[in-house]
Amino acid sequence: GSTIGILGGGQLGRMLAAAAAQLGYRTHVYAPDRESVAAEVAAMHTRAAWDDEQRLAAFAAACDVVTFEFENVPVDTVRFLSGHVAVRPGAKSLEVAQDRLAEKAFVAGLGGRTAPFAAVPDRAALDAALAAIGTPAILKTVRMGYDGKGQARIASPDPADADAAWQAIGARAAILEGFVAFAHEFSAILVRGLDGETRVWDSPLNVHEAGILRASTLPPPPIVLDQQAEARALLAQVADALDYVGVLAGEFFATDAGPLFNEMAPRVHNSGHWTIEGAVASQFENHVRAVAGLPLGSTAVPRLPVTMHNLIGADIDRVPDLLADGAAHVHHYGKTEVRPGRKLGHVTWVGPGVGPEAVPR
Ligand code: ATP
Ligand code: MG
Ligand code: MG
Repeated sequence: GSTIGILGGGQLGRMLAAAAAQLGYRTHVYAPDRESVAAEVAAMHTRAAWDDEQRLAAFAAACDVVTFEFENVPVDTVRFLSGHVAVRPGAKSLEVAQDRLAEKAFVAGLGGRTAPFAAVPDRAALDAALAAIGTPAILKTVRMGYDGKGQARIASPDPADADAAWQAIGARAAILEGFVAFAHEFSAILVRGLDGETRVWDSPLNVHEAGILRASTLPPPPIVLDQQAEARALLAQVADALDYVGVLAGEFFATDAGPLFNEMAPRVHNSGHWTIEGAVASQFENHVRAVAGLPLGSTAVPRLPVTMHNLIGADIDRVPDLLADGAAHVHHYGKTEVRPGRKLGHVTWVGPGVGPEAVPR
């Protein structure tokens, strides 16, 4: 087929569309968001578009294969589309990754280790969970969280802390996790083809600030180099168990006791943006190859170091300086609404002698 459908209209879809174009594919974007940067799309500024069967059927009819760039596409939307066109990865992968409890239970079932966790369906359950897990802990909504939104830290067993956290996350079904004193955070990013072949990129070190990814760098520190094999093996098991097709990312904490699984993303991932210039085939290209049933490209990293910095909120004002640095690969997502904490672009440096040090902040 020659048209790839993408559910979701953010920067990930936009970069997927660019990679698809390189390989000769057309893309068709289904994006109910108010501001879509993946493409100019007809006004579908409502969540109801995910339930609009007529529109979805027309979209499916226009596509040879459908994928998604957004893990909160309703599972029922993907199930409906799957009756009309191949959707890769499938509904099951989406269902597991949308629900932090299902996700951790799935990974634990494959032998993966996670932070201690407990289900918190209501306020009363939070007291029991705190008694079992202790403090400090992190309360997270089971669904819909991203960039650290829908999370609250609980510092002490004081009931006032629990009340505040429960209110802060909107008094919704949650998961309580023990706070992990990690050495570093890193991700494992793999691509699994239609035939089951799996390839993995080198793991970057990921630095977060206020729950948002700030930077990904390679090579990572020794503890991450030591632990990436175990993390990859677990993620590959997850991918096989889900009969996954496309790019799958797993976020891990490197701890003295080995890698702990944090969460997965059933899609291309921010910590893999460096692969555009830093790897032979990028995560976007390989996702397109996988969902289109093509042979996978090489995940080799020809040159180190590689540094990717996100441009978050007012960071976007640095673009003129970054452009003046001829070694900086600048990506501007073209979003018109600039808000604090919003990811508006990223920049990547590859190879020795270049990097963010040269750029005034
Ligand atoms: P993303 O944008 O990556 O999807 P998210 O909103 O789904 O983020 P998490 O990845 O679960 O949230 O958490 C965001 C960050 O908060 C983590 O990268 C880590 O820095 C910190 N964090 C989350 N859970 C824990 C934990 N149990 N212990 C310590 N730190 C944690
Ligand atoms: Mg997440
Ligand atoms: Mg995360």
